[in-house]
Amino acid sequence: MKFYDFYKRFPNESVCVLILKSIKEQEGIVCKKCKNVEHYWKKDKNSFECKRCNFRTSLKSGTIMENSNLPLKYWLSSIMFFNIMEKNISALKLQKEFGHKRYEPIWLMLKKIRNISEADYFIYKISDYIAFDKNSFD
Ligand SMILES: [Zn+2]
Repeated sequence: MKFYDFYKRFPNESVCVLILKSIKEQEGIVCKKCKNVEHYWKKDKNSFECKRCNFRTSLKSGTIMENSNLPLKYWLSSIMFFNIMEKNISALKLQKEFGHKRYEPIWLMLKKIRNISEADYFIYKISDYIAFDKNSFD
């Protein structure tokens, strides 16, 4: 199972947004400002907006993807590949797979992926949307 095979399972950013949005909704979104739990989804901003005070909570807020401008596709495919297939994949290899110009953001992403404690949770959740049964790849 090559990295590319994982990568292509995430067809585009919209699909990744939907996956992450759905994970967030299942967790429940709590407004940081007023603690309200009811939100509108602002599609153009990729954010939840509090129905009471209009405070916005971004999709990446509270995840390891926060503060990253890399596509969600990079993140989700790398999290899955790292945890299911190959823990020793290098940032250089990933950079080549993505065809990304700069090494540093990819290195930083991989470093964060190595350190996340919520990896199992993510994999479990992502697997609800995209079939990732290791055995089916052999
Ligand atoms: Zn609020």
